[in-house]
Amino acid sequence: MGNAYKIAVLAGDAIGPEIMAQAVRVFDLLHTHRDHAFDLIEAPFGAHAYFSHGQSFPEETQAICDSADAILKGPVGLSFEDSQKIPPEEQAERGAILPLRARYQTFANFRPIYLSPDMAHFSPLKPEIIKDGIDILLIRELVGGLYFGPKERGVNAEGLRYVHETLAYDEAQIRRVLKVAFEQAQARSCRLHNIHKSNVLMSSLLWNEVLDEVREDFPSVEVIPMLVDAAATAMCLNPGQFDVMVMENMFGDILSDQGGGILGSLGLMPSACVGPDKAYYEPSHGSAPDIAGQNIANPYSMIGSVAMLLEMSCGLKEESELVWQAMKSVFEAGYTTADLKGGGSSANTVTTDVFGDLVIEKLDALLKA
Ligand code: NAD
Repeated sequence: MGNAYKIAVLAGDAIGPEIMAQAVRVFDLLHTHRDHAFDLIEAPFGAHAYFSHGQSFPEETQAICDSADAILKGPVGLSFEDSQKIPPEEQAERGAILPLRARYQTFANFRPIYLSPDMAHFSPLKPEIIKDGIDILLIRELVGGLYFGPKERGVNAEGLRYVHETLAYDEAQIRRVLKVAFEQAQARSCRLHNIHKSNVLMSSLLWNEVLDEVREDFPSVEVIPMLVDAAATAMCLNPGQFDVMVMENMFGDILSDQGGGILGSLGLMPSACVGPDKAYYEPSHGSAPDIAGQNIANPYSMIGSVAMLLEMSCGLKEESELVWQAMKSVFEAGYTTADLKGGGSSANTVTTDVFGDLVIEKLDALLKA
């Protein structure tokens, strides 16, 4: 008898249910071949939850997530126009995503930016820049900084509308995410790019001060400091220089989407959001309302999030590696999804469902072997 896991499944909005439908098929195969039992409990979350329950993160969903071993979350949110039908405090980020992160204090966000040599042609960067692929682990602080600080909006004494948002961190918040980043760097190539903006921001001065303390416990790790604006350029001109990168919340939000850009699509960006007691797993991208309902979304980011969940919340490292291998082999066989423009002939461009079929077929064979 294998192990038993309770997984909260939040399919999300727009393309969320389309890519989630493919991702959860992995659990059935692991049950069949490895006898692991996955109790998948679906729960409403996001814009559709607001329309059906009056809340984007309803109480019943909170209870399901509280009792789960891990949470698998699809992207949430609507188009800019449709979002206006929801009050600002219940819109995707403010009403669902940030409260989920705060509830489980998922402070360490792992965002792999990865292209195998055989997938390198998906990148819009020139072959001489990409060389034999990209392999970056971007670690973003996820529950502090500008996104979580106190906010205020009003009209000032001169009658002008104003807004005031606060970028706040304390040293404990900084230390815990840096420690995770150093551990990852130590386990990989012993190189850590520290992305900051200490020439302008006081918060980066404190960040760097704490980093100097944390690094004493990791003498084998070389730290390479880089200003965030310079890092944005360097990711395009020479991504091969990066291995592990660490940064505060907003820098990570922006640079990780740039990561999707240098890969060729946000659809290649899974992620893990890890807290002290619980983690949740989601694609780094949004709900892509522009392509919803067409069966053309790339489910790699969602299936990759399952691979990360298997390794990080269930300890199933071998099974996780087989999921990655299955997805890579589908691309290596010449298949692509519609978002990967550089991906070869249109004859091999497959739908969301067919990409899922191909991955499941390959994974089935790998698990049997
Ligand atoms: P987006 O990430 O949804 O889309 C940006 C572009 O990438 C679009 O052209 C889209 O078609 C494409 N894309 C994204 N994922 C793809 C995939 N798997 N396959 C193929 N193409 C893909 O960003 P947006 O349009 O700015 O935001 C849409 C909604 O998502 C908004 O409501 C936003 O608030 C929300 N959002 C949610 C999350 C989350 O759930 N974690 C993150 C970011 C944005």
